[in-house]
Amino acid sequence: MARTLKLDLDCCVNAGECYYNHPRLFAMEDDGAPRLLLKQIETDDDLREAEEAIEVCPSGAITLD
Ligand code: SF4
Repeated sequence: MARTLKLDLDCCVNAGECYYNHPRLFAMEDDGAPRLLLKQIETDDDLREAEEAIEVCPSGAITLD
């Protein structure tokens, strides 16, 4: 079943771990803020990447529903 990747910019501290480590899922905006590239997580590879991004994010801004 597809999962939904979410990014809460109110929590984000622009540490950049998400887009540096997982450029398929996140991109960097001009101001250094992250942007979500992939919201629907459907494959095992995407799920593994999403879980890794959640683990390394220092602010808890990334979640999976
Ligand atoms: S890793 Fe977390 S805190 Fe850092 S830019 Fe990404 S969402 Fe924001």
